[in-house]
Amino acid sequence: MTCGEPGPPGALPPDEVLIERMTWEQVRDAIARGATRVLLVAGAMEQHGPHMAIATDTLLGYAIATRLARRLGRTLVAPAITVGVSAGQLSHAGTLSLSPETFGRVLVDYCESLAVHGFTEIMLIASHGGNIRPIGENLPELRRRLPGVRILASETDPSVVAGKLERVCRKHGLNPALIGFHAGQGETSMMLATHPDLVDMCKAVEGFTGDVSIRWRAATPPPMSTMSPTGILGDARGSTVEIGELLLEERVAELEALVRAGTPET
Ligand SMILES: [Zn+2]
Repeated sequence: MTCGEPGPPGALPPDEVLIERMTWEQVRDAIARGATRVLLVAGAMEQHGPHMAIATDTLLGYAIATRLARRLGRTLVAPAITVGVSAGQLSHAGTLSLSPETFGRVLVDYCESLAVHGFTEIMLIASHGGNIRPIGENLPELRRRLPGVRILASETDPSVVAGKLERVCRKHGLNPALIGFHAGQGETSMMLATHPDLVDMCKAVEGFTGDVSIRWRAATPPPMSTMSPTGILGDARGSTVEIGELLLEERVAELEALVRAGTPET
């Protein structure tokens, strides 16, 4: 391969937005050219039913953040916090969980690292419900430590999630009980749209479709096994790429509006 020619196989794409796929010089130069906003996904490594991969929340977070960064412009995507606060999912094999205290320390360390290099705006994106409360609890500390950085958060209160799901479902004629909050039609459809190789629709089943509000009313949610033995909240059957694209677009548009408005939703 001849060095210096644009576009040979394996070349680093000049429009990359994922920091982990860039060189340090590319990151430095992008910041110098004005990419001073960075998106930080707080994902999870937790069970997602018998049909979908453990990394679902983290992968969907990357997919949404990448689309959002390209739409906003002058924005990069930080390496995600890949393990979140998932104590309620430890009843199922493969789940890893950080305590809220550990998560908070990791969050602060990530943000302080990003601030060193010249990012002046950090958008925290909760890609897993269990991370919302600790993100909210750590915002004052982050803002105290990093007074020169504008820090936004996608959510700071887990109770807002149900209302958002209801609104999106009503708008598009979807059934919120099936879309669900965890590994149901919603997440399964978004994974079909972004990572179909990590979904086995032959194993997609109906999960718990009743009232799940205890999961965000309680500081520590009950073990998932007591609510849904399969680990699904919602119904994974009937998931489609089309539903997935629609939900991805809704999330990207919601976050774009939030960044442009510059105020955290509570
Ligand atoms: Zn999930």
